[in-house]
Amino acid sequence: MHLCPNCNEQLRSRSMSNFTVDECPSCDGLWFDDQVPEKMVCTVASPQFFFEPIAFEKKREVPEGRLQCPRCQVTMDVFEVRGVAVDVCQSCRGLWLDSHELRRILSD
Ligand SMILES: [Zn+2]
Ligand SMILES: [Zn+2]
Repeated sequence: MHLCPNCNEQLRSRSMSNFTVDECPSCDGLWFDDQVPEKMVCTVASPQFFFEPIAFEKKREVPEGRLQCPRCQVTMDVFEVRGVAVDVCQSCRGLWLDSHELRRILSD
């Protein structure tokens, strides 16, 4: 079980058709385990999540507010996807999305 990097709540596993996503019941953040960050970004068409291949833009230096990977506790790197900062763990290749980050990606 993983804990939310934002609020330390226990994430809830949710099975999708071909992958699992962990949701935070408190802040609605999403954790994607063991993905391929360079090739994915998620789009949502309720209630299913779909992935579309989109290249992650350049890595961005964020001096503050960096999050720890809920799986391996290393500091995650921040990538830009459509101008939105997304946290990616280079160690386990997991990806964290705050709910507002997801909404901003999808609003394009
Ligand atoms: Zn949370
Ligand atoms: Zn990790």
